Amino acid sequence: MKGSLLYEGKAKRVYHTTDESEQLILSYKDDATAFNGEKKSEFAGKGRLNNLITSKVFQYLHQHNITTHFIEALNETEQLVRRTTIIPLEVVVRNQAAGSITRRLGIQEKTGFTPPIIELFYKKDELNDPLINDVHAYHLTDITEQELTFIKQEALEINQTLQQLFLKAGLTLVDFKLEFGRLADGSIVLSDEVSPDTCRLWDRNTGEKLDKDVFREGTGNLIDTYENILHRLEESVCVK
Ligand code: 5GP
Repeated sequence: MKGSLLYEGKAKRVYHTTDESEQLILSYKDDATAFNGEKKSEFAGKGRLNNLITSKVFQYLHQHNITTHFIEALNETEQLVRRTTIIPLEVVVRNQAAGSITRRLGIQEKTGFTPPIIELFYKKDELNDPLINDVHAYHLTDITEQELTFIKQEALEINQTLQQLFLKAGLTLVDFKLEFGRLADGSIVLSDEVSPDTCRLWDRNTGEKLDKDVFREGTGNLIDTYENILHRLEESVCVK
């Protein structure tokens, strides 16, 4: 049963469970923010869509032997997860250039990266989530060199698995952001969410952007776009 509020972020609320101290309930909100909260809006139904999409993606990852914090979707907007302490790193994997890397390094959009580029950002709103290197990460977080190597390997494996998943749904996985958390025993697992809020997804045939960029760039209807992604995953992916 849902207990007291532990934490409220930009896209989710985190609740204790009354019966299990090592489990939490994530409640997905309808709020959308971009540019570190400078652009804000609310979209009725967004929480449901991100909850259902993330649940499908995590189930698919489990089927492919990738461990995550996800246990089960409880209802349309909430999911039960294993309790982790989030490591304040945003691990971004890029298969093609888009977004901040095009502005930061002057790389043309759609330029392909083989191997994929992994970037680390320090998760700190006050600092605007700056790009950092590995040694910064050792100073700023409790992560060890060995654990960071594991996180990067895991991120590349997740990339391959998600590329296959989205390919089946007629989508190109351009880039995405992951967050990892520590379980009570100290081990590290994929946490947070994987949704059109955290991935860039382009239609394989038309190149149409089908992710949060429609909100960031004001180019489309967010709810229709996220419904489209959920529908494609339901049609093409064999997870319940
Ligand atoms: P960029 O660095 O180009 O802004 O983002 C790279 C990828 O990571 C994109 O798929 C973007 O959605 C995701 N991403 C990076 N930072 C954040 C963040 O703070 N919140 C969310 N939801 N996604 C992020």
